[in-house]
Amino acid sequence: MRILLVEDEPALRAPLRAALTGAGYVVDEADNGRDALHLGETETFDAVVLDLGLPVLDGLSVLRRWRDAGRTLPVLILTARDGWHEKVAGIDAGGDDYLAKPFHIEELLARLRALIRRAQGLASPLLSCGALALDTRSGRVTLRGQPVALTAHEFRLLAYLMHRPGAVVSRSELTEHLYAQDHDRDSNTIEVFVGRLRRKLPAEAIETVRGLGYRLVAVA
Ligand code: CA
Repeated sequence: MRILLVEDEPALRAPLRAALTGAGYVVDEADNGRDALHLGETETFDAVVLDLGLPVLDGLSVLRRWRDAGRTLPVLILTARDGWHEKVAGIDAGGDDYLAKPFHIEELLARLRALIRRAQGLASPLLSCGALALDTRSGRVTLRGQPVALTAHEFRLLAYLMHRPGAVVSRSELTEHLYAQDHDRDSNTIEVFVGRLRRKLPAEAIETVRGLGYRLVAVA
């Protein structure tokens, strides 16, 4: 899952980036509205954390322009304390949820998890596909109730597939959602990680759909 983090205050952006990365997300950052607007128009994200008070172009304008252009990505806005009018304006501009500063990072992570799973039509934070389960709160993966140890890369790949059970996901889609913009993107590495996951899960859990991509299949 790939997140765009838009926050101009370095003292807030750095711990947010660390927490998001620690929670298994890939993070792209912007510290002003113009760069945020551009990234949101040209790159693919699973959700955005958008501060409203930004230099160059304010967060509300960024959000309105994304929505006017038909960009539907989930957006969690960050507002000033007691800024109730900001919250209303943010929701009306197309924000999906808000958080007032100061906030606990745990709350931001929980709201983000909810936005991401709702965008996929998933109600529960516990994702399952047959005997395979992923708890998005703890990042714990189990197979028939037994824990499966995954590396950060393997986890990201599986988490993306678990949010789309039964759907065919192309390698280019995986590449877009599993790597940040400045990362060297090579879709062959996706194949490598699929291979590694298949050795830790039942191999048939990740089906190759020739010419199209991969599909997570329920295994007993
Ligand atoms: Ca700010």
